[in-house]
Amino acid sequence: MTRRIFRYVPFTIVQDATAEPEYEARCVSGDDSECGAESGVWPHPAEVEEWQRKHTQETGHTRYRRNFADYAVMEPLDGLPTGLEPARVTRVRAS
Ligand SMILES: [Zn+2]
Repeated sequence: MTRRIFRYVPFTIVQDATAEPEYEARCVSGDDSECGAESGVWPHPAEVEEWQRKHTQETGHTRYRRNFADYAVMEPLDGLPTGLEPARVTRVRAS
C-alpha cells in the first residue's frame, strides 16, 4: 500500500482496503479503427495480463490501453491533536 503525506494538511491518503481496485485493458491495435476487444474488470492485474497474452496469441494484436482505478480515503495523521494549525505540521518532502 502506498502511503503519502499531503503537504500542509494533517491527513494521509491511503488506499481504501474495503474496496477492490479495478484493472482492465482494451485492445487498441489497428491502423484505421482499433480492435476494441476488452478484458473486463478484474481486481488484480494478473487476469488482465493473461487476457492480453491470449488475445495477442489469437489475433497478433500487440497494443493495449490499460485502466486502473482504486478508492482512496483521507486519514488523520496519528498522534496529532485536532485543531492543530496546518503550518505547524512537519512537512514531509517528496523525494
Ligand atoms: Zn485486438
